[in-house]
This record gives sequence, C-alpha cells and structure tokens, in this order.
Amino acid sequence: MQLFHEHEQVVVCHEPEAGLRAIIAVHDTTLGPALGGIRMWRYDSDEAALTDVLRLSRGMTYKNAVAGLDLGGGKTVVLGDPRADKTPLLFRALGRFIDSLGGRYLAAEDVGTSTDDAELVALETDHITGLPVARGGSGDPSPMTAWGVFCGMRAAAAEAGLGDDLRGIRVAVQGAGHVGAGLVRHLLDAGSEVTVSDIYPERVEALTGLGAQTCPPGEIHRQDCEVFAPCALGAVIRPETVGELRCRVIAGAANNQLLDSSMGDELHRRSIVYAPDFVINAGGVINIAEELGRPYDAERARASVERIAGTLTAVFERSHRDGIAPHVAADRLAEERIAAARASRPDAVAALHRPG
Ligand code: NAD
Repeated sequence: MQLFHEHEQVVVCHEPEAGLRAIIAVHDTTLGPALGGIRMWRYDSDEAALTDVLRLSRGMTYKNAVAGLDLGGGKTVVLGDPRADKTPLLFRALGRFIDSLGGRYLAAEDVGTSTDDAELVALETDHITGLPVARGGSGDPSPMTAWGVFCGMRAAAAEAGLGDDLRGIRVAVQGAGHVGAGLVRHLLDAGSEVTVSDIYPERVEALTGLGAQTCPPGEIHRQDCEVFAPCALGAVIRPETVGELRCRVIAGAANNQLLDSSMGDELHRRSIVYAPDFVINAGGVINIAEELGRPYDAERARASVERIAGTLTAVFERSHRDGIAPHVAADRLAEERIAAARASRPDAVAALHRPG
C-alpha cells in the first residue's frame, strides 16, 4: 500500500517540556470530521509510528464509511510507554494540538489510553469523544462493540446456513478482555456452546464459572467449532494458521484480523464466511457518533449498533453479486460511499467546469 498518496493532513506534535511526541493523521474528511482514537505505544522507531498512524487512520475512514456514519477517518499515535510515560502535561499538550485542528479531527480512546487521559485532553479541547456518561459522553465503547459483534455474528452464521439465533452453535472466542468477555456473556445467554481462551487465566475463570469451556491460547483457532471469534490480536489469520482452522465462520472484534488481503481470498476459497473486521467491530464508533451534536441516549445507540447485522448482510450480498470475497466487497462499499459524497460536493462540480 502506498502510504502517503491519500492522506489529507499529517501533523507532528512535539512539545519537549511536556514530554510529548505524537503524530495526528487525518486521512479523509469527505463524509465529515475525522474520528479516531489516540493510541499510546512504545514504537521501535519514528518510521514505525508513522506507518501505524497512516494505516490506522485509513482504516478508520473505511470503518466509519461502511457503518453509514457522517464521519471521516483519523488517528493519533503518542510515542511512549503507556505504563511509564503518561503525565497530565503530556495529554494537555496533545489536547492543544488536537484543538489547533479546529474540529477536523475528533479524538477518542484507543489502545494504551483511558477515560482519565481523555479527561485531561478535554481540559484543552472540545474535540474529544467517549468521555464518561456522567459528563455527557458515551463512555466505554467496549460493551457496544461486544453487542455489535454478537449481532453481526448472527448475520454471518445465517450466511453460512447455520441459522441466526446461535443456539447450540459452538463458538471459540480468542481473548477475554473488554470485548471478548462481553461477547462470551451474550453468547452464553443465547445458548451457544462457548470455548474461550486468554493468556491471563484469571480473565477466563469468571467466564468458565458461567458455563464456558476453555483451552490453551495456542489452540483456540484450531477448535472444532462453527464460529471462531478473534477478540485479541491482529494478524490471527496468516499462512501458518489458515490451514488449521476448523470453523465455518470467522466473526470477531479484533482489528486487522487478516495478515493481508490474500488471507481473505484464502478464506473465501475454503468457503469460510469471513465477517470483515472493520464492519463487525464498528459498535464502538457507532456508539461515539451518538454523542455528537445531541445528548447521548444509550437505547438509541444500541439500536444503531444493531444495524451492523444489516450492513454485514449487504456486504455478503455484494460479495455474491460481484463474485468477490467479503473483505473486498466491504472495501468497495466504503470507497463507493466516499466517491459518491465527493462527486456531489459543489466544489467537485465547479472543478469539473473549470477551464484547463
Ligand atoms: P483488551 O486488551 O481488553 O482484551 C484483549 C485480550 O486479549 C486481553 O485479555 C489479552 O490478555 C488477550 N490476549 C492477548 N493475546 C492473546 C492470545 N494470544 N490468546 C488469547 N488471548 C490473548 O482489548 P479489547 O478492548 O477487548 O479489544 C479486543 C480487540 O478488539 C482488539 O484487537 C481491539 O483493537 C479490537 N476492538 C476493540 C474495540 C473496543 O471497543 N474496545 C473496538 C473495536 C475493535
């Protein structure tokens, strides 16, 4: 992928007194302000941080577009150790940089940042989302992400001919973190047979107490099951694992589940239904969109998140219609929505009529 040919704006944020080194990438604002989280990570190099923010911000454009949100894609990476380098000064300095973009970029939490950090950013700018519900925000997005994955999994199961109520369906969940644990609870409530695995056994214990089974982390993708739900890391579907899968559906929360696009083609060839990650895990951003421009309402947000099932069905229909794999169909839907919005802009029409 060429990294630099499509981003609208990339801002390097440097304030030595505050210990801040960060990059904000605004990928595309055709559909609206660029929404995306603040990731704090110990990158091996500046190049690695730049590559990550460019790739992640592009991913947000696609996620927001397919989710039907009037939002573009952006992201921030903060270079530093989230366990050691966080200070109020750092997040306030970042808040001022975010504010300087005048609302073209809307920040949120992400890996390595928390509501506490968001509250520090909020001291300097209004362009931060996902603040606690008590402060008028939409709060922790994980429960809505889990609910969206559950609803999307039903649509993916139906696509695989397994019915859509998930009762009696065997589901293997990788990762019992914020999203994975919530998903397991929904599945147990629905009468699914759940196996869950995590590198931290204590995270699994609470769920086995509710009726889930468990297995060693290295074996979860090999479970004989109907649905495999990656809810931990990226690149879970790679050449070493794809041949070991014994499921008919992949539907989970993790970002970037496919090592690369060829893995999506391989799943398609093996007749494994893949729910594209950025479609099925959009519950968090859909929830955030509900706090923009009007008071947050959890019931309305839940109803919006449930539309993920219909969006996935549209992706599968497009996949059949064009004879393409679902991950390609999802990209096309996103690109078409953005292209249509761009074409309908008054300035686009003017540009067409400009001489020369
Ligand atoms: P989390 O950190 O709370 O949970 C991840 C869990 O995976 C942890 O318990 C961790 O111990 C476990 N894990 C790590 N490596 C593992 C392995 N090899 N095998 C089994 N378990 C392993 O994160 P989360 O918020 O639950 O997010 C899970 C995934 O979903 C991430 O990829 C995240 O990017 C994605 N996602 C999350 C949200 C959200 O709202 N939180 C939204 C969209 C996408």
